[in-house]
This record gives sequence, structure tokens and C-alpha cells, in this order.
Amino acid sequence: FVNPDEETVSTYEAKRKEFEDYKAELKTLKTAESVSTDGHKVLLVANIGSPNDIEAIKQNGAEGVGLFRTEFLYMESDELPTEDSQYEAYKTVLENVNGPVVVRTMDIGGDKKLKALPVPEEMNPFLGVRAIRLCFQREEVFRTQLRALLRASVYGDLKIMFPMIATVDEFKKAKGILLDEKAKLVAEGVKVSDSIEVGIMIEIPAAAMLADQFAKEVDFMSIGTNDLIQYSMAADRMNEQVSYLYQPYNPSILRLINNVIKAAHAEGKWAGMCGEMAGDQKAVPLLVGMGLDEFSMSATSVLRTRSLMKKLDTAKMEEYANRALTECSTMEEVLELSKEYVNFD
Ligand code: PEP
Ligand code: MG
Repeated sequence: FVNPDEETVSTYEAKRKEFEDYKAELKTLKTAESVSTDGHKVLLVANIGSPNDIEAIKQNGAEGVGLFRTEFLYMESDELPTEDSQYEAYKTVLENVNGPVVVRTMDIGGDKKLKALPVPEEMNPFLGVRAIRLCFQREEVFRTQLRALLRASVYGDLKIMFPMIATVDEFKKAKGILLDEKAKLVAEGVKVSDSIEVGIMIEIPAAAMLADQFAKEVDFMSIGTNDLIQYSMAADRMNEQVSYLYQPYNPSILRLINNVIKAAHAEGKWAGMCGEMAGDQKAVPLLVGMGLDEFSMSATSVLRTRSLMKKLDTAKMEEYANRALTECSTMEEVLELSKEYVNFD
């Protein structure tokens, strides 16, 4: 505005003041717990890609790591990372993060191609030899990663998570390989933590539907909505032409998420989310209402989510989520319904 009139100036002064107050509030929330108005506590943790992200965790008051995307360690060079170099990376993160650290075993394949680990050309790479499937094909590479993780486990609160699990057998097989490596290390006299939780990512609708059975086997489930939405909607997450189908608040997606959370709780396990949706301010009230325990997001989203959390009442959010799950047929209807429960301004 050139030569703004008094009214414009005072409007923007008020906005500035509001923003300054908000920033000051966020600062005070850095060391606060993540609680709703009625005292319900959740965990707000961060997604990271390397030990370089530790500073961001501290700066933004994240309570741990909900997703360490380890594939970046593999993508850095033309050669596969050694057991020792991986061990150092995991140890650094575990030593420097005050809280749980969920490490996802490598998620190579799909769009993430590696020179050091070539996979044959596929018609549909996102439906092909990706993540845990590649780990089973190249078991020696998987075992190397697991050994590095197990050796580092004594330095913090490590949790290991397998990506792209479709069947209970896949989980059992992956866990079996982990336990085999653990036994070998222990026999070699290497110290390994006895309290490592082992869980899975829920990214495939088949696993979300069968969450009650998975919950009997795993220690936790973390919902990867980036892929879960892609696979549920049959819409490539890299293809802009079908990006309108990326609908986190579509009741179909909400039902899958709710199914996973309720199934985890029925077996006394915890449910987290590490896809983009976990830090989406419009989704958080629904997720609180469905009872999600752990929200993992980019570190820069943690404080504003903690601020939002403080304004939410669990019982009210439960009612909102239940109505969204049972009464709505479109994402637009869910967002319309949200106006009765949340003020997003
Ligand atoms: C996800 O699919 O939601 C997820 C967190 O994994 P990535 O985005 O790395 O595939
Ligand atoms: Mg994924």
C-alpha cells in the first residue's frame, strides 16, 4: 500500500501484534508438554533424514523422532553405506535426541532409485520391488542395516519400523531376521538393548484393513498417509494431474486411519502417524478425536501443532471425528462439519 490510510495502518498493526504474540507463545511452548485443553497428552515428534536434523529437533521442541528416513544414508553416494558408517549415524541421533527415536529401515525403490542397488525396470515401480520387498531380495543389505541399528540401540530409546508391510507374514519374516542378527551379535559379546520396540508402517490399505491382526504381532503402528492415500485412491503421489485425489480428510481415508488406531488400542499398543497429514492443522483435530497417540511431522510444524492442541477438547473432537466417520460422504462435508467444532483462525 502506498500512503496507506489510517484504517489500513491500524488493521496491519493489529495483525503484526497478533503475529508477534503468536511467535512469543510458540517460544514458551518449546519445553511444554503436548496436551489438549482437558489434559490429554500426546507425543509430538519429528521426521528426520540424517543426523544433521538434530538441531532442528531441539530448536522446535520436538519430543523425539517419529520417523528417521534412513534411505538418505544410502542415496548420498554411489556405494552402499557400511555397517560402521550407519552405526555412527544412528548412534549420533540416539545420543543427541532426548526421547524415542523411530528408525525406519530403508525404503528404497519406487521413486527412490539407487546406483548401488539397481532394481530391474518395472512397469509400476510404486507397486513393485520397493522397501521391505527389496530388503527380502537383498537380505545381506538389510542385515547390515539391522546390525548397525542393534549395535547403536544401547545409546537411546530406539524403535525399529519396517516400511511397506502388506502381510503379517512379511512382518514376521522381517522381525525374524532382526532377532537372528540380534542373537548373532549377543553371541559375539556385543551389547544390544533388550527394550527395542519393533513396529510397522501402515501404508498399504490391506494392512490398514487387517490392523487388528497386525496389532497382535507388533509393538506399534505408524500410519504413512503419503503412501496410504496414494494406494487407497490409486493416484500416483508424483502425478500432478491426479493430485486432486490426495484427500486426507476423505471419509474413506479417515475410516482406515480410525481402524488402525482402534485396533492398536484394543491390543494395548500405540498408534502414530508419520505422513504429512500428522502436521496438517486441519487434520489434527480429527486425529485427536480418533485417539492418535503420536504425531510425527517436519520439525518446523511441531510448535504450531502444540499450540493448536492446547485449544482442543478431546470429548468434542471425538464427537467431531465420529460424525465425520459416520455422517460424511466427501472431504468437503468433513471440512464443513469442522466449522462446528474448530475455529481455524
Ligand atoms: C508415508 O508414506 O506417509 C511416509 C511417511 O513415507 P514416505 O513419505 O517416506 O514414503
Ligand atoms: Mg511411505
